[in-house]
Amino acid sequence: MTPLVRASLLVQRLAGHAWALVLALALGAGLVLHGTRELPAPLVLGMVGTYAVLVLRRLRGRARAGSLAPITWVLDAQLGTLAHAVVLIVVRRVDGGLDGPFYPLFYVLVTVVAAFARPSATLAVAAWLLGIEAAVAVLAGRFAPDAFLSHVGFVSLFAAQNLVFLRAEVARMRTRARGRIEDEITRLKDDARRYRLLGAGEDERDPAKAEDRLARSSVEEIHQSVHYALDLLRRTLDLNTAVLLWQNDAGTHLRISELSTGDDEIHDAPIRTGDGVLGAVMVERKSVSLENLRPSYHVPYYAGPCPVRTLLAIPVMEDDHVRGVLAVDRKSARAFSPQEEELCQQAARYCHRAIQNERVFLQLERAKVEQGKLYRAAKGLGAALTEAEVLSAGVRAAREIASFDLAAVTVYDEEKKVHEVCAATSKNGEIDDLVGARFNHNAGLVSMVVQNRFPLPYKGEFDATHQVVLTRRFPWPRLPSLLVLPLVLHDRALGTLILGSHRPHAFGDSVRPTLEVLASHLGVSLSNARMVQKLETLAKEDGLTRLLNKRALLEEADAKILAATRFARKLSLLVVDIDHFNRVNDVHGHDVGDLVIKGLADVLRRHKRTTDVVARYGGEEFVVLCEQTDEPGAMLLAERIRTELEKTAFHTRGGKLSVTCSLGVATFPEAGTDFEGLFKSADLALYTSKRGGRNRATLFERRNSELRLREGTPVPEPQGSARPAPVAAKSRRAR
Ligand code: GH3
Ligand code: MG
Ligand code: MG
Repeated sequence: MTPLVRASLLVQRLAGHAWALVLALALGAGLVLHGTRELPAPLVLGMVGTYAVLVLRRLRGRARAGSLAPITWVLDAQLGTLAHAVVLIVVRRVDGGLDGPFYPLFYVLVTVVAAFARPSATLAVAAWLLGIEAAVAVLAGRFAPDAFLSHVGFVSLFAAQNLVFLRAEVARMRTRARGRIEDEITRLKDDARRYRLLGAGEDERDPAKAEDRLARSSVEEIHQSVHYALDLLRRTLDLNTAVLLWQNDAGTHLRISELSTGDDEIHDAPIRTGDGVLGAVMVERKSVSLENLRPSYHVPYYAGPCPVRTLLAIPVMEDDHVRGVLAVDRKSARAFSPQEEELCQQAARYCHRAIQNERVFLQLERAKVEQGKLYRAAKGLGAALTEAEVLSAGVRAAREIASFDLAAVTVYDEEKKVHEVCAATSKNGEIDDLVGARFNHNAGLVSMVVQNRFPLPYKGEFDATHQVVLTRRFPWPRLPSLLVLPLVLHDRALGTLILGSHRPHAFGDSVRPTLEVLASHLGVSLSNARMVQKLETLAKEDGLTRLLNKRALLEEADAKILAATRFARKLSLLVVDIDHFNRVNDVHGHDVGDLVIKGLADVLRRHKRTTDVVARYGGEEFVVLCEQTDEPGAMLLAERIRTELEKTAFHTRGGKLSVTCSLGVATFPEAGTDFEGLFKSADLALYTSKRGGRNRATLFERRNSELRLREGTPVPEPQGSARPAPVAAKSRRAR
């Protein structure tokens, strides 16, 4: 419609109402006149009747006017002036004039009008009221300007309330609108549930918000597709309404899911599943076609009388279950032909497919999001090398999947049948001190999960009264949500990942499967980290004695010499070699030889200080590196080692066996400034010990650039005595 056409229509309508206004005013004047002088009874009766009819028509007109502002204004003014006429009669009858105690009734009238009518209508009624009052007073010759002015003041005051009421009304409307929006959102969520796009008890925090958004957009997609189908159906089959009703989760009610209609009287409220024609379709699982419907017939989705003559309702099936109903109707009495019915059946199938497609799409989207999370988790876990790094990467990844307040990891020692908490973290520190806690295999959740390799408790809901997490000795915080997941590797559980939350239903169906996959990743990574640690230990350790091997010694020695150089400290190196070890092997066999090697390793281990480094250098030769130890200190240690081994008796088949050892001692920096130099010096000193008759310790000394070797006991020689340099000039290694 063009603006010109609209304007002319409006003028016509206003003109149509204007005659009524004139009539209302005339009636009012007549009634006023009747208050002052007697009029014939039929005229009064006629006027009262016309008045009543006018009031009723105005009231009805107002209710129907809706948002057509100018018309509502005219109607309000008419009603106000009509009401004024009644008040005027009453006041004049009771008080005999307009200055009696009942005058305030006019204020009441103005207030009522101001509360419900538009400001312009209120203004018109107030002006009319005061005009009549002035006219009546002047006609009666009793016009009092003071009293009139005070009435003008009060009438204005009460009319001004209009604004207040109007504002209150606006606020109320806003609240109502907000409520409607919220209702709409709730409805949208309901729709998502009914289409099974959202799981029950979803987490509303971050991970789920994305899920929520996803579901909403999916609902939107479904609505669009279905609406398109219904609209097409309505236009093609000349329908009044084509509506898809969908069942709620509980199966108790049907609700309009989408519709295309030309009717205003749609009843959009839950419809009980068993009600009327729709109920019959649900129960019978068959289409129902109705003809010659009367207005008294109740169609559940129409608010008022039945506006249609024919109706066809078709069940929408899903896996042998009726999930909804597609209803189509038309105003004409023409019944639905088999072809039309077939078309509607196809539309019903189309609607169902749209919902199904969207469900598949949603599942794919979900899978994509979950895969992303798991990919990041795998990346994080793959980059972690140590056990601690793996555990923190695992907890970080779990946090991306679900929100929780505490997490712990336990590992299970299958041989000892003991569980140990190897990591624990919580927001309020409730479980942090559980790290290191050990407990036997029992009937608690952790033990059960390890045993059965299945997550517990059921659905992640924890009952602290009846369920034990670790063992009774270590109480667990009372939380509504808990999930113990097995860290599975191949077909056994290495331990568990425990997650807890203060929120109920924190570990719903949407997060549990992903957490389970994460737990498996964590199991593999944990096992790898342990393997790496084991390999590292093996690479550094000597298998027979469990002391450091030569490679590890060289690494340690470099660091120690660097520190000694930096802080100008002494550092002594002892080389220990078993005497005539070949004989031990030859006489007693290699097993006994190994036993002797282990025996010497034990002696060294017992006598070493925590800062000392002891290593098996090769064969039956050992090295001890002693930090902050000078020559006398090193010789003292060497003596202790020598005597201790000498005293040690090894039990063999051939009886007790005793062995001795020889030692060479060299101290940094005099005997050498790097490991090689230091070792060479100690080796020379050892050679001196061997040459000197074995079972003794010799200190390497260099005085005035001249090499000297000082032997220890048992060959009693005074400390500081010198041996000829040529003795040591040839390294034992060169032999
Ligand atoms: P010396 O007093 O001069 O040291 O004479 P020795 O017989 O001890 O000679 P040497 O130190 O060279 O002996 C090395 C022998 O140690 C050679 C080898 O058979 C033996 N041996 C090396 N490693 C092992 C081992 O792991 N187990 C056993 N049983 N014997 C070993
Ligand atoms: Mg030897
Ligand atoms: Mg040797």
